[in-house]
Amino acid sequence: MTYFGAIETGGTKCTCAIGDHLGNIIKEETFPTITPEKTMPQIFKFFIHEHSKTPIQAMGIGCFGPLDLHIESPTYGSITTTPKPHWSNFNIVQAMKTAISVPIGFDTDVNAAALGEQRWGAAQAIDSFIYITVGTGIGVGAMVENHLLHGLIHPEMGHTFVPRKIGDDFKSVCPYHDDCLEGLASGPAIAKRWNIKVATDLKDSHEAWDLEAFYLGTAIANWTLTLSPKKVIIGGGILNKKCLIDKIRAECKSRLNGYIKHKLIIDNIDEYIVLPKQMGKSGILGAIALAQKAKG
Ligand code: ZN
Repeated sequence: MTYFGAIETGGTKCTCAIGDHLGNIIKEETFPTITPEKTMPQIFKFFIHEHSKTPIQAMGIGCFGPLDLHIESPTYGSITTTPKPHWSNFNIVQAMKTAISVPIGFDTDVNAAALGEQRWGAAQAIDSFIYITVGTGIGVGAMVENHLLHGLIHPEMGHTFVPRKIGDDFKSVCPYHDDCLEGLASGPAIAKRWNIKVATDLKDSHEAWDLEAFYLGTAIANWTLTLSPKKVIIGGGILNKKCLIDKIRAECKSRLNGYIKHKLIIDNIDEYIVLPKQMGKSGILGAIALAQKAKG
């Protein structure tokens, strides 16, 4: 049996896991994301201990960004300009290398999750698709003809500009943009807009969900027009609200208005826009898949 190490770093917690080549998670622990000085020693301890019992062949890290993903860059492996205090310019790949000497795969948390869904989830045998997560922030990973899209830095589609619904004058929660998707439709945006602690506590009948679907459906229509994904996977904490996905499908279809003449969109939008098959696990499984890729 071959074992891999996997790390998924998020805004509030870091998940560490040991998994096998089939995507079975053997051991998993989470640690709070505080500062690198406080969080990393816990991560090191977990992996050094596991590695001594069951040697791992490689490691994968799916990390919140923005990140330096250019392998030839002197700062490859760093978290760059994150607003998360203390993590700016922290080189997580370099730090892990000092703890365990194995090949390390590194990508954004959402690209990792996309890879996880392709390997073991809703996008098996699909070469072009997007994975969206709607939670504390909004992130999108894009697999384009079997390549995770990076480009100049890496896509930041969660900050796509969306037209405001007429009458919506809510102040965006994004510190950079007045009209971006994350600023208008992330979990904190919903909570602030409707003055509630936990967005998903709003009733199914609340108008919040029609507005949320308006923004998400519009953004998905834009990404359908730009990247031509064969499937759209949408997850994250906000999608635990079960009434939302059908509203998003309807809004996206309405926005496209018959222009993209494909049966998936015209007749089977419920097979086009889907929940993750590994809801809540896509990211950590993706990190295992990144490790497998790093091992080669
Ligand atoms: Zn923004």
